[in-house]
Amino acid sequence: MKMNVQPIPMVSDRINEIRSLTATIVNKEILPHENEIWAWRGDPRVTEGEIEESRRLRENVKMKVKEAGLWAPHLPVEYGGSGLDFLEHAYMNEVLAYASGAAALFGVVAPNSGNQSILVKYGTEEQKKKWLIPLIEGKMESGFSMTEPDAAGSDPRSLKTTAKRDGDEWVINGHKWFTSNGKRADFFIVMCRTDDPDGPADRNGKMTQIIVPKNTPGVNVIRGVPVWGNRDSDHCEIIYEDVRVPVTNQLGQTGTGHQAAQDRLGAGRVFHCMNSIGQMWRAFDLMVERLMSREVHGGKLETKQFMQGFIAESYIDIQSARLMTIHCAEMMESGGDPRTEISAIKIFVPAAYTRVVDRAIQVWGAAGVSGDLPLAGMYQAARTLRIADGPDEVHKILIAKNVLKRYHSGQSWDFGN
Ligand SMILES: Cc1cc2nc3c(=O)[nH]c(=O)nc-3n(C[C@H](O)[C@H](O)[C@H](O)COP(=O)(O)OP(=O)(O)OC[C@H]3O[C@@H](n4cnc5c(N)ncnc54)[C@H](O)[C@@H]3O)c2cc1C
Repeated sequence: MKMNVQPIPMVSDRINEIRSLTATIVNKEILPHENEIWAWRGDPRVTEGEIEESRRLRENVKMKVKEAGLWAPHLPVEYGGSGLDFLEHAYMNEVLAYASGAAALFGVVAPNSGNQSILVKYGTEEQKKKWLIPLIEGKMESGFSMTEPDAAGSDPRSLKTTAKRDGDEWVINGHKWFTSNGKRADFFIVMCRTDDPDGPADRNGKMTQIIVPKNTPGVNVIRGVPVWGNRDSDHCEIIYEDVRVPVTNQLGQTGTGHQAAQDRLGAGRVFHCMNSIGQMWRAFDLMVERLMSREVHGGKLETKQFMQGFIAESYIDIQSARLMTIHCAEMMESGGDPRTEISAIKIFVPAAYTRVVDRAIQVWGAAGVSGDLPLAGMYQAARTLRIADGPDEVHKILIAKNVLKRYHSGQSWDFGN
């Protein structure tokens, strides 16, 4: 089934053009080859010929994406990106994410894309030349190393990894895990607690992000942490032991690490939510397609009221998630304070995504959990999103705090804005 993308009356012509160009690539170049495009070398059932063919298919899609001017939507034109503005990028994501894994084919894949944005904003000219450009050109890979096994990731100010100044070098010691892309990475951006020149670091500040090449002595990638029953993964556990890097490897001013992490996550959360909506859209299409064709107990599934309930509930979930996310994006675009809205979508959208995919799996029965459909992968992704980038509970606390602050100041909430 093709994704049905029509012009939206209330948005700019450029946004409609981007959505339409993206949908053409998804429908013509990716979906018809979805089973062949991701053949990978570790799969014993796949031949060398099939691997070569999958590489050729991916390169063909990337070429089409570049021809359409859609490559790397998160990057300015001067860095080889398509220079989309925030809303254009957000609206593009709901379309490209309809095809699982498509982000990589559009040159915007985490954690590289987040690291690229941070390097664009905080990097010196020297750092950009050395790390950003090769990352954009695909000659390097990277990871973002913040979460630790011995400190709560949902409270980043509790991180224990330290960087201490020794002459012109930072000396880093710490234990991280879930550093995605850790095996492939050539360098990591490591979140460290740094010394305050005026005294020891305090709990509330002085976090600094430091670029650490993986081949630096003392960087020990211990393992890929097994995730979702897979015995291996690229989410790595890493021990940094007396790792020395030049002070010129720090990103921005000393102590700006926490702010840089927030910069990374703010817009990123809207983009992730729009991705989730694209995936829900796909799950919905798959579900309805099956309901219309599968015969059970003397009738098509679509005639059973339990199943009709799935259609209605999923429709409501997708519409609510999408409108909340667009509202949040518009608020960010107009310069308002979007913190409450960001937390709200960060909770609501992954939960809605989980429900929609869960229903689609139920409708497909055994096939729903098989590798023949993208639903099982979506289910894992949706569930994981409720933890990554700040778990639900942390965002609920933030919403309540913002609301109560408003009411304590004598105002109430204006849901019209
Ligand atoms: C697949 C995957 C990829 C990841 N990739 C990266 C990466 O590339 N780089 C990186 O640095 N990190 C990465 N992470 C880590 C992720 O960002 C953290 O898991 C997340 O920030 C939560 O931290 P934690 O796991 O330490 O959970 P904790 O902080 O220990 O929290 C555990 C649970 O406690 C509850 N909780 C927390 N605070 C409160 C509170 N105040 N009140 C009530 N309940 C609370 C929540 O339910 C929460 O889920 C990844 C995680 C996953 C699963």
